[in-house]
Amino acid sequence: MFKSLNLNDKQENNKVPTDVERVKCLIIGSGPAGYTAAIYAARANLNPVLYEGLQPGGQLTTTTEVENFPGYPEGVTGPVMMEDLKKQAARFGTDIRWGLATKTDFSGDVHRVWIDDSKLIEADTVIIATGATAKYLGLEDETKYAGGGVSACATCDGFFYRGKDVAVVGGGDTATEEAMYLAGLCRKVYLIVRRNELRASKVMQERVFNTPNIEILWEHQTKGLFGDGVVEGAILWKKKGTPEEEEVKIKIDGFFLAIGHKPNSEIFADYLQLDEVGYIKTTPGTSKTNVPGVFACGDVQDPHYRQAVTAAGSGCMAAIDAERYLSEKSHRS
Ligand code: NDP
Repeated sequence: MFKSLNLNDKQENNKVPTDVERVKCLIIGSGPAGYTAAIYAARANLNPVLYEGLQPGGQLTTTTEVENFPGYPEGVTGPVMMEDLKKQAARFGTDIRWGLATKTDFSGDVHRVWIDDSKLIEADTVIIATGATAKYLGLEDETKYAGGGVSACATCDGFFYRGKDVAVVGGGDTATEEAMYLAGLCRKVYLIVRRNELRASKVMQERVFNTPNIEILWEHQTKGLFGDGVVEGAILWKKKGTPEEEEVKIKIDGFFLAIGHKPNSEIFADYLQLDEVGYIKTTPGTSKTNVPGVFACGDVQDPHYRQAVTAAGSGCMAAIDAERYLSEKSHRS
């Protein structure tokens, strides 16, 4: 007896991709971690296929000068550095493609990843390098002054504000760390905190309280920024929504967001262990996730360092781990 095909079956059948490809090594993401993994994987004959994702080149393409990546004594712009890494990955045969990984199935021995909800890649190894996205407040001025005084990375951009006045938004460990870092470079650092207490660890709170050139603006929120082409100041609300609400202006040259990062790990959540924020958990000292053959590198698994050079280093680890996994597997079979 034949099962009759109802509408739901038909819709399910329509979703089955006709385009299926088998690869040895799939790399998802094109920041420093993804491209470095690609360089190593290609040189180890893993014939990597790399999908660039939503933001080809990753977060660095949104920064200006990069002066802390070893090997560029005169500095380099973020986009140029990423183009260099891409060329280096391509030189050894990485198949670099446009496309976004939209779904995964890591339940079997072969790992399945859907690209743009249509093409299906079946991979022996998957290297996840999807990065993290800095959270912004959602103000129009953040876009208007992007590259002109607005930054979400003090370690990357703080140097350009030596001797100047800056503001950091946020009250967590990132904000207090960034404020401390900037306090060592800048004349004055305002810490804009929306509540009347910090979320940061006690030790960081103490450090901030004891740093004379950090001024905490308690119960302040940002209304907007002003300046002729570049940031010259911020307009804040003090005690917004209360009878004591007032508008305050501060003169600053740099406006740093430190209100958290969101690791781009949603599509892996059904199979991989994540921490409470969403960072992929890896076995310490390796790039191994809880699924054999699936590796994670760069910011998607790193809540602590988040630097291009550490991401690149972990990309190298992921490719070496993938190569060893395949070689051990072939010896077993
Ligand atoms: P958190 O989520 O801990 O803190 C975010 C901060 O930003 C909070 O103070 C929050 O305010 C504030 N905030 C969020 N949204 C807004 C908004 N729209 N407007 C104004 N303020 C806002 O993020 P972090 O990046 O600081 O830390 C993430 C994790 O990483 C934490 O677990 C942290 O401990 C850890 N970390 C550890 C470090 C270390 O060990 N060296 C260094 C850096 C981070 P509110 O408090 O009111 O919610």
